[in-house]
Amino acid sequence: PKRGSPLLEVSGLSKQFGGLTAVDNVNFKVNAGEIVALIGPNGAGKSTTFNLISGALRPTKGTVTFAGQNLTSEKPLHLVKVGVARTFQHVKLRPNMSLLENVMLGAYSRTKTGFLAGALHLDATVEKQVRAQAALALQRIGLLDRADDMVSSLPLGQQRAVEIARALASDPVILLLDEPAAGLRRLEKEQLSHLLKEISAAGVTLLLVEHDMEFVMGLVDRIIMLDFGKQRAEGTPEEIRSNPVVREAYLGG
Ligand code: ADP
Ligand code: MG
Repeated sequence: PKRGSPLLEVSGLSKQFGGLTAVDNVNFKVNAGEIVALIGPNGAGKSTTFNLISGALRPTKGTVTFAGQNLTSEKPLHLVKVGVARTFQHVKLRPNMSLLENVMLGAYSRTKTGFLAGALHLDATVEKQVRAQAALALQRIGLLDRADDMVSSLPLGQQRAVEIARALASDPVILLLDEPAAGLRRLEKEQLSHLLKEISAAGVTLLLVEHDMEFVMGLVDRIIMLDFGKQRAEGTPEEIRSNPVVREAYLGG
């Protein structure tokens, strides 16, 4: 997709859990090449929005369009195949497997056979291709020299990077990151910000959920704020910083 053209569009997106409306008529676009953040207090509906986009949940109402295709309620594996990859709020790596094996699990999902078939009956050619893709992804995060180490031996900042590598191994067009900076130390946050800028410069569109305002302000082109499932504000970091609605709901006045 051409830089600046609409890539991802959510329209009238809503999700109800019983009587609770977790996502309430949310509408936004992400253009190719942009870095966009979803912010908002705990429980605002950010992760649910990601789950709706990535196919982990079906919306009660609304649509998800990606690169001109209506992908509402498509399965996660299908979304990965068309170029939508994600990371999770809580690290979902296998701690007792190597970095390379963890990242290979991400690369399988983009092969024809799909992850399960791939893992069970991997033919030698596919295995080679998957291994090479995974090694390339580890190189992109600067951890190729740790490829054979166990994930559990890494500090949290590097585990997050491995999660990103696993998503990158599927060769995404857009990458959704759920609170990538949570729990990281200051230096780790700076390294993560640098890595995300590199990934963006390489042509991957980024949509992230993040609590850390300082981290967001220094990284993104545009911010969308949710509160109680509703979209409350949208703008550049400067516009958001000075928006009274945001200051009241999120920054505490
Ligand atoms: P955020 O990521 O912004 O903190 P979430 O999207 O995780 O918020 O949650 C939004 C609201 O939906 C919260 O009130 C949460 O408790 C509720 N919620 C999220 N997932 C589920 C679920 N699977 N079942 C029931 N309620 C849920
Ligand atoms: Mg969340």
